[in-house]
Amino acid sequence: MNEQLSNRINSLPISETLAMAAKARELKAEGKDIISLSLGEPDFNTPDFIKNAAKQAIDDNYNSYTPVDGYLELKQAICNKFKRDNNLEYNPNQVVVSTGAKQSIANVAMVLLNPGDEVLLPAPYWVSYSAITILAEASFKEIPSTIETNFKITPQQLEAAITPKTKLIFFNSPNNPSGTIYSEQEFRALAKVLEKHPNIYIISDEIYEHINYGDPVFSFAKIESMYNRTITINGVAKAFAMTGWRIGYIGAPEWIAKACTKMQGQITSGANCIAQRATITALEAPVSKIQYMVDEFKNRRNMVLELLGEIDGFELNVPGGAFYVFPNVSGFFGKEFKGIKINTAADFSMFLLNEANIATVSGEAFGAPNCIRISYAASEAQLREAINRIKKVVS
Ligand code: GLU
Repeated sequence: MNEQLSNRINSLPISETLAMAAKARELKAEGKDIISLSLGEPDFNTPDFIKNAAKQAIDDNYNSYTPVDGYLELKQAICNKFKRDNNLEYNPNQVVVSTGAKQSIANVAMVLLNPGDEVLLPAPYWVSYSAITILAEASFKEIPSTIETNFKITPQQLEAAITPKTKLIFFNSPNNPSGTIYSEQEFRALAKVLEKHPNIYIISDEIYEHINYGDPVFSFAKIESMYNRTITINGVAKAFAMTGWRIGYIGAPEWIAKACTKMQGQITSGANCIAQRATITALEAPVSKIQYMVDEFKNRRNMVLELLGEIDGFELNVPGGAFYVFPNVSGFFGKEFKGIKINTAADFSMFLLNEANIATVSGEAFGAPNCIRISYAASEAQLREAINRIKKVVS
């Protein structure tokens, strides 16, 4: 806490995912043999056909400001993608391109929320949803779930959590950190509740849609009664191994898209021009071009589930998508190692870092204090070695 700084920044938690990744980098630089399973970042290179499009864009002198909401060709490609992959109808006036899906979400929160508004977060949820809500001066309420229900909330829970102040709810399927995928039926049951509360808006974060292992992925805006109050979030980071390129986008009611453009016009002026051109090529390619990465993630998921499943104390669900496992590790609470007691998931995560040189992210920041997140976006050899080390230290 620094009194010279604003209340806004003083009350903002740091991003636990990025903090753990930074800590792992720091320890590596000190010469420690760290395996970082903290960050949700594909370990693949961006495919060549996308890199070539970016090189071409540089040679073609794409170097000026772009329209604030993105190149029209890109917005059209995004509309085509929505139609092809999600059967969603959006026109370019409903699309805004931003510097990563994180900025897309921040824009929406900033333009919809007022102090006093409440945001519902089905837990576990990605760490930045709560932080962005705080930044927008609203408050958030968690709707808890457990591993027994595969981390899904029920319509009854949703109904009970709604108050007259509720303005926004986040859905994220496939989910970071649990990998859970809601079925169409489950989403329709939740929508039935929201139909009774017309003042609530929905952010449907679909950034992991392509990283799924066979279960159909359903877009919330497909529900007719929800279309006019759903903001669909997506981006190229995860599916195309383009995390550093920072391109995210929304499909939304036009008045919300316009407001996001206004917000962005005062903050970034728009996303990077070269990355936008490359994204056109990425989105126009058939999805089969990235299937090799999804297949590899699936193999790793199966391997990680098998190996972690052999260790007593790790309670696991089977993630249907994304590239994380999110075991309940409360079985280790109360145990002691070298005089240090493990009482929380954060203690356990620190124990793995200190004793096994394995970086994970503790579940507290995801609203699930009994769990830790392990990213399997790492090579098979690294994953085997990491789980071996974990096995050794916990035994
Ligand atoms: N979304 C990824 C994660 O959860 C990247 C880091 C971040 O932005 O939080 O690890």
